[in-house]
Amino acid sequence: MSDTVQAFMEGIRAKNPAEPEFLQAVEEVAASVIPYLEKAPRFQKARLLERMCEPERVVMFRVPWVDDRGEVQVNRGFRVEMNSAIGPYKGGLRFHPSVNLGMLKFLAFEQVFKNALTTLPIGGGKGGSDFDPKGKSDHEVMRFCQSFMTELFRHIGANTDVPAGDIGVGAREIGYLFGQYKRLRNEFAGVLTGKGMDWGGSCLRPEATGYGVVYFAQEMLATQRETLKGKRCLVSGSGNVAQYTVEKLNQLGAAAVTLSDSSGYVYDEAGIDGEKLAFVKELKNVRRGRIKEYADAFKGAVYTPADPKLDHNPLWNHKAQCAFPSATQNEINAKDAAGLLENGVYVVSEGANMPSTPEATEQYLDARILYGPGKAANAGGVAVSGLEMAQNRIGLMWSCDDVEHRLQGIMKAIHGQCVQFGRESGGFVNYAAGANIAAFVKVADAMLAQGVV
Ligand code: NDP
Repeated sequence: MSDTVQAFMEGIRAKNPAEPEFLQAVEEVAASVIPYLEKAPRFQKARLLERMCEPERVVMFRVPWVDDRGEVQVNRGFRVEMNSAIGPYKGGLRFHPSVNLGMLKFLAFEQVFKNALTTLPIGGGKGGSDFDPKGKSDHEVMRFCQSFMTELFRHIGANTDVPAGDIGVGAREIGYLFGQYKRLRNEFAGVLTGKGMDWGGSCLRPEATGYGVVYFAQEMLATQRETLKGKRCLVSGSGNVAQYTVEKLNQLGAAAVTLSDSSGYVYDEAGIDGEKLAFVKELKNVRRGRIKEYADAFKGAVYTPADPKLDHNPLWNHKAQCAFPSATQNEINAKDAAGLLENGVYVVSEGANMPSTPEATEQYLDARILYGPGKAANAGGVAVSGLEMAQNRIGLMWSCDDVEHRLQGIMKAIHGQCVQFGRESGGFVNYAAGANIAAFVKVADAMLAQGVV
């Protein structure tokens, strides 16, 4: 790390001491943006990166609710409104026991850059709660969502801040949140995305992140005149992003051989075809069961329970050409990355946000593989959310073909920006640096134009 990056990080660390994920995300961006800034006089003196590291606003609130036994529960709610230089704050809500302010600041910071890459006018934010929907009844989830929105509604709006889903917030939760917002405001507004198709949603929003991640891999492979056809792929997670990643891989003739949840993973040598994927969707989205059941249902599939004593995740230790981490942050460490490379993986397209540790990323870059960082590769979800906002504004619904065509165009454009800003001498494309610099330039120019605000 250069002296300038080190000095910059010292300041950020002093201000945000107990936020390791946030510091990790900032350092990753600073390492590529600061060297660029040194050669870009128009950005000097304005302290743009320092300003981007400070949320425009943070709201933190109590979320009290009553469980099915009649007992009072208390959770904590957050919304981090990070940057609105290029549009209203936009980014998901995460409901998971691990949620805290530092984690949401990391996600909101990443979101600013990701949203800038989509070519759409959307700023960045993120929110959520330490509430765990796992094991809760539908009524409990509804009561929690209603209480959460009873505070959040005064801070958001169709032209101010438009949340969406993330881990633990799917179609069910968005429905309850939207219902409560509408009731409180007495208006039917495009204030959340990921809405149902019959009440203001966009075709393809559920599919968008997973499909987009695969399109991004396809674009990277195309630079080597290759396609996904016949490739074996490791996918982690089994939620929204993982499911639609597998679906698109199947459509393009690739084979996904793994899926996971926090209890363990399944390996299916024969590939997770359409019928098996339908089982996973029903298992995860309707019955809300565990991935272990996959191995009970399909002969030949092997289940391995998660072992907290291991220093690596064996999911990443199977022969494959492509990896699509789609569960959570820092799920691939240095040892996992070494395993991936040894097993022949040369395409990593990140569905999750920051799933690879800095040491893992360093190995991808040293090995010069095709590495698409989350903020570029998984931007398809927020891009279709942006398209949902556009449809809500004009009061029309575009066809699924139309939305998919736009999504493909956006993923192509994101890839193009990464190549433009990330090509190194010798021709290697550093997509991580390219995504950071391209996004920074867009947000920085808007901030410069709007003065010191
Ligand atoms: P879901 O809640 O639908 O699924 C998350 C999956 O990851 C589940 O299988 C879950 O298992 C697993 N998981 C979550 N936390 C952990 C953990 N700590 N350890 C191991 N496994 C874990 O979420 P999404 O699919 O929506 O999101 C997955 C990732 O993609 C996240 O990083 C999210 O930020 C990112 N993302 C999502 C977008 C979207 O549109 N949904 C857009 C862009 C990025 P379990 O059920 O056991 O917890």
